[in-house]
Amino acid sequence: MKEVCIIGGGASALMCACFVKNNVNITIYEKTSKLGKKIIVSGNGRCNLTNINMNKYSYSCNINNHMQRFTNEQTIDFFNSIGLETYADNEGRVYPITNSSQSVVDVLNNYIKQKNNIKFVQNTEIIDVFNEKSQYFVKLSDSSIKKYDAVVFASGNQTNLKLLDKFNVEYNNFLPSLCALHTDTNKNLSGIRVFNVGVSCSINNDKFYEEGEVLFKEDAISGIVIFNLSAFMSRKKSFANDIYVDFLPKMNKQDLIDELSKRVVNLSKLKVKDFFTGLFVGAISEQILSKAHLNYNLSVSTINNKQIECIVDIIKNYHIKTFSPCDNNQVCSGGVKLSFLDDNLQSTNNNGLYFMGEVVDVDGVCGGYNLQWAWTSGRIVGESL
Ligand SMILES: Cc1cc2nc3c(=O)[nH]c(=O)nc-3n(C[C@H](O)[C@H](O)[C@H](O)COP(=O)(O)OP(=O)(O)OC[C@H]3O[C@@H](n4cnc5c(N)ncnc54)[C@H](O)[C@@H]3O)c2cc1C
Repeated sequence: MKEVCIIGGGASALMCACFVKNNVNITIYEKTSKLGKKIIVSGNGRCNLTNINMNKYSYSCNINNHMQRFTNEQTIDFFNSIGLETYADNEGRVYPITNSSQSVVDVLNNYIKQKNNIKFVQNTEIIDVFNEKSQYFVKLSDSSIKKYDAVVFASGNQTNLKLLDKFNVEYNNFLPSLCALHTDTNKNLSGIRVFNVGVSCSINNDKFYEEGEVLFKEDAISGIVIFNLSAFMSRKKSFANDIYVDFLPKMNKQDLIDELSKRVVNLSKLKVKDFFTGLFVGAISEQILSKAHLNYNLSVSTINNKQIECIVDIIKNYHIKTFSPCDNNQVCSGGVKLSFLDDNLQSTNNNGLYFMGEVVDVDGVCGGYNLQWAWTSGRIVGESL
């Protein structure tokens, strides 16, 4: 029997175990006491396990060939076949019908339990890996050394990439992705959530623009659009300090000028502080009026065309200064370069050394794409071991 060591008991390792052939013995080492920890916390405890919509912007690089070997549809079918009922929301995000991520871990564990070639060793960290004469040796946290025919890294973004230097496997260092961004310029908006706004920034002439929901916090901005913006920054290996929010992206500048001019006439008997009532929530209105240096207590009728243009500029290009990524990142960009792996995710320089999941330099945007990569890469390695 072929003996294989898998480092890490997360999403990709569990999927790999489901697809490994019976003539291969697998030992999965997990340094914590829990298997599938990140699956449990994913999707706010609901586990957004994949997405029914895939496009070329879903991932940091082209992984079409890999994805065709275990597509999102096949993933859903597989989970259904092992007992997990699923549904998709309006954005195509797929969740278990129980809305509990524990169900995802449970169905995987139940399926794996029926196989007798998979062993789990928890509370054990792999601290080193080396090879000699086509055998692999792994050093465990208790300093014991075990011998294997193949080793699979499934250790996610906690992988000590330096361990790979001896194997001539090239990698990019991990950088936080899918996270909130620190800012201290919006304290007055803390707790406000805005929907259907446009967020933009540019890095070295490459532009990011996406519409969706943004959440203002005491010292940060968050929300799916901001998470995806952090992924853009991480892929560019650069941080953009200046980002812009368009509070009314469906209206062009001229439409907005016309709309506000009408409001000046229709609301002429009200005070400036009421100018935006019904258009924005209070805290946003106050912020825009204060940025436009308007006196709240004057009559709306005093607002002139120049001031309207200034207000429009603020609404369409609301400037936010950001400082750094927050450390609540869901994933990291970086990891082992795909160009150093063959079609089965085996190192081109080292027979028997495999990589799957987040340790590979593939990352997706929000919406179930990162787990889909863990499932797809896990299956590919499982079948090819
Ligand atoms: C809060 C949060 C929410 C998320 N929500 C979603 C979501 O809704 N949808 C989505 O698609 N993605 C989501 N993700 C991302 C997704 O969870 C990861 O992309 C995915 O789990 C990666 O799978 P993996 O198998 O590569 O690694 P992981 O699932 O991270 O597993 C790696 C495991 O290896 C173990 N390990 C590391 N080093 C060693 C070692 N040396 N020895 C032994 N064990 C080791 C770790 O303890 C860990 O358990 C979320 C992530 C977070 C943090």
